[in-house]
Amino acid sequence: NVQQPAGDRLPRYARVNTLKTTVEDTVDYLKRDGFSYLGQASRLDDFTLKEKSFVRDMHLPELLVFSPKTDFHDHFLYKAGHIILQDKASCLPAFLLNPTPGSHLIDACAAPGNKSSHLAAILKNKGRLFAFDLDAKRLATMSTLLLRAGVTCQQLANQDFLKVDPESPQYKDVEYVLLDPSCSGSGMVCLRDDASSVDQEKNQARLASLASFQLRCLNHGLRFPRLKRLVYSTCSIHRQENEDVVAACLQENPGFRLVPLLGQWPERGLEPLTQCLRASTTKTRTHGFFVALLERYSEAGNKKQ
Ligand code: SAM
Repeated sequence: NVQQPAGDRLPRYARVNTLKTTVEDTVDYLKRDGFSYLGQASRLDDFTLKEKSFVRDMHLPELLVFSPKTDFHDHFLYKAGHIILQDKASCLPAFLLNPTPGSHLIDACAAPGNKSSHLAAILKNKGRLFAFDLDAKRLATMSTLLLRAGVTCQQLANQDFLKVDPESPQYKDVEYVLLDPSCSGSGMVCLRDDASSVDQEKNQARLASLASFQLRCLNHGLRFPRLKRLVYSTCSIHRQENEDVVAACLQENPGFRLVPLLGQWPERGLEPLTQCLRASTTKTRTHGFFVALLERYSEAGNKKQ
């Protein structure tokens, strides 16, 4: 009795790219293509789907949910950029940041660009999206992805986010930051370590170094003078990279506070940071994930640190 890896049992998610199409048109196209649409899901059990049937997600209105074996890589809708293949949890940061069309924002660690394309869709391509990444190859992949998705409001830079000057005039109108920095990836079902083979000491040192990088990025993100909201996310399940980083940042930046997120979401950040969200294979049928939303709430947050 060979057990399927957990990743193969997760539903397949497709985010409708509203820069190119609508949910209604996508549903119609899929129905004509032999899929059967079961309406909007209302609970997690509705994600247990037969082959070729699909539902609309109950939290993210532009997200469609399919059975685990569905493969869209050769499908017209994917190739034409009408759908983006993105895990449900990874759609949360842009959705929760919810920037106003016309505004300026930063995607600090942006490649390969799924969250940037989601941000651009929310902006309706109106405004400016500054996207940074250290890795030139991943940034090249991102250019292709954004082109296919019809994104036009981006300005990509192969640059260390920590060296971006928040006082530079070009960022003076930045009101939103999405920060999805490198992490251990421990939430990715396919990457999960076999506990017996992990060198615990090495792992701890790696987590400590990642957490210190993540905190530096977070502090840096809060330095943009007109910043209103910053969303922080990781695909890690470790408290050290999630709640601990956010708690340390809030201590260092008293002008910012956490925004309580989606009351109806089934998995919260670990105590006491229950305003944040977590995601997992069991409770949300996604990869492991963490999201926090910080907002400026007093003039103290305007002062340079
Ligand atoms: N947000 C991306 C998406 O949704 O497609 C995924 C981002 S991935 C988790 C983290 C990215 O951070 C990697 O592409 C990595 O190259 C980049 N990175 C790491 N350190 C960085 C730094 N100091 N400045 C900018 N980007 C960095």
